[in-house]
Amino acid sequence: MSFTDITQFLSKIAPLVPLSLTELKWLQSPQQVLQKELKVNGKKYPAYRVQFNNSRGPYKGGIRFHPEVSLDEVKSLAFWMSLKTAVADIPFGGAKGGVTVDPKTLSEKELQQLSRSYVQAFWKQLGPQKDIPAPDVNTTPQIMAWMLDEYEKLCEEKKPGFITGKPIELGGSLVRDIATALGGLYVLKEALKRLRLTGKTAAVQGFGNAGMNIAQLLFKNGFKVIAVSDSQGGIYSAKGLNIPEVVKIKQKTVSVVNYDKAEKISNEQLLALDCAVLIPSALEGVITKKNAPNIKAKIILELANGPTTPEADEILHKNKVLVLPDILANAGGVTVSYFEWVQNNYGYYWDEETVRKRLHEKMLTAFDKIWNEYQKSTSDFRTNAYILALRKILAAEKLRGKI
Ligand code: NAD
Repeated sequence: MSFTDITQFLSKIAPLVPLSLTELKWLQSPQQVLQKELKVNGKKYPAYRVQFNNSRGPYKGGIRFHPEVSLDEVKSLAFWMSLKTAVADIPFGGAKGGVTVDPKTLSEKELQQLSRSYVQAFWKQLGPQKDIPAPDVNTTPQIMAWMLDEYEKLCEEKKPGFITGKPIELGGSLVRDIATALGGLYVLKEALKRLRLTGKTAAVQGFGNAGMNIAQLLFKNGFKVIAVSDSQGGIYSAKGLNIPEVVKIKQKTVSVVNYDKAEKISNEQLLALDCAVLIPSALEGVITKKNAPNIKAKIILELANGPTTPEADEILHKNKVLVLPDILANAGGVTVSYFEWVQNNYGYYWDEETVRKRLHEKMLTAFDKIWNEYQKSTSDFRTNAYILALRKILAAEKLRGKI
């Protein structure tokens, strides 16, 4: 979704919050936009860090490595992070980073150089009490480890709270690797309960950190996962896929399409499958006004950021499809990132059960608050989530006496 779409959506819902013109303008503008060019082996890569809002705490947001990263996209993602931390009720603001690069074209050495040069470019504006990065598309715990090492070298101090999504050995949190998916599962189960839906079939688009983990969790929790996909295409089985086997094939051959006990389908066909739950877990803007009328799922769990366009949202709301929006559905990732940061600051680490229990509490509390408002309103679930988050950000800023 373009940043213009976001500003238009904000203008549309402004009377519901309600927002004055000054407040609206303020919420539509990032606080800081940083841009640099990174050089690796003579090649140049545009790099960004957008610090959208820090009224409620230090900026927080992942770093994406992808050939289609643009300033516009990073702005949208940074805006959503500001809302997500407010929805999840964690004391952070919102930011996002990105590098326009296809990491598949880099050697491991070059990838390390690129990761370190990102930190060299922005380190003065980052830090455990300023702006805390994390993984996103194509950035891994290993990349977080290189970035932490570079930051600590520049600061000449140990600062594990600089970045989250780190390997456990460097101060990462238990459960962080599956947190986005697990948080999504908690929210999904609650929504199914509230809607009294018993159908447990699901289709998952994208098979990376978010998509592969949700497919595995669904499988373990007795759901029938009838389709999954990645950038090369999708696979479908009406009987349900054996997800552990699909994971093995993905790990061995790079793509799920090489799994031969299922029918091949396109990513577009996956969206229109007859199932209870559709889980976009790849990139933005995949559910559009063109394909929204064909969606048969009763619930869409947005593990990806921004997978649904505003026009599609309207169609889905009219068709009574419940869209659990990104700023709630995938907030498990940033919530456990927050737990990781707390543990780093404390220097005291929690066991797995504690992390899971606290994540469950946070996700359910957030869901409950939005659900209660949603029951009283005629607007969709996303609008209610936005209203809640915007009010929280504004309240914090007003207390600071700045608006
Ligand atoms: P990832 O890089 O681990 O995986 C991305 C997956 O999407 C891969 O399987 C890739 O093949 C697939 N993909 C790429 N283009 C595709 C296309 N056109 N059609 C279908 N599949 C395609 O990334 P991730 O971390 O899983 O992130 C996925 C989404 O989830 C992003 O929108 C990200 O912002 C969001 N998200 C991730 C986290 C997290 O903790 N990883 C947290 C919150 C939100």
